[in-house]
Amino acid sequence: MDKNCIFCRIIAGDEPGSQVFSDDKCVAFKDIYPVAPRHVLLVPRDHVEALSDIGPQHEQLLGHMLRSAPAVAKAAGVLDSGYRIAINQGKDAGQLVSHLHLHIIGGKTLGKMA
Ligand code: AMP
Ligand code: ZN
Repeated sequence: MDKNCIFCRIIAGDEPGSQVFSDDKCVAFKDIYPVAPRHVLLVPRDHVEALSDIGPQHEQLLGHMLRSAPAVAKAAGVLDSGYRIAINQGKDAGQLVSHLHLHIIGGKTLGKMA
């Protein structure tokens, strides 16, 4: 846990967060500035900063997160209607929070990706 990290603090319950899913490896909560009617963030419990920090020891975790995505989508109410998963990596993608997170977005017909 990194006490300076907003997502670590949400996971620890030290900051408010609207949790929709959790298991032993990851937590999903509503994005505070949703870009669509349904927008949740799926984050690992471990503080991993970005995709560029992923090593062989994280392969199981990443696989687990992707495999959990349909359950998160179900909790977010978009399992049947469809959803988009995105990771912002680095400056040009607009990554703001340095704790790896999958955006799970839906609840309307989504436009084309930029
Ligand atoms: P990114 O640009 O991929 O780093 O996205 C970070 C996301 O975290 C943005 O969509 C923010 O709206 C969201 N966010 C930042 N702070 C919080 C918070 N305290 N609770 C929920 N979502 C947050
Ligand atoms: Zn963190």
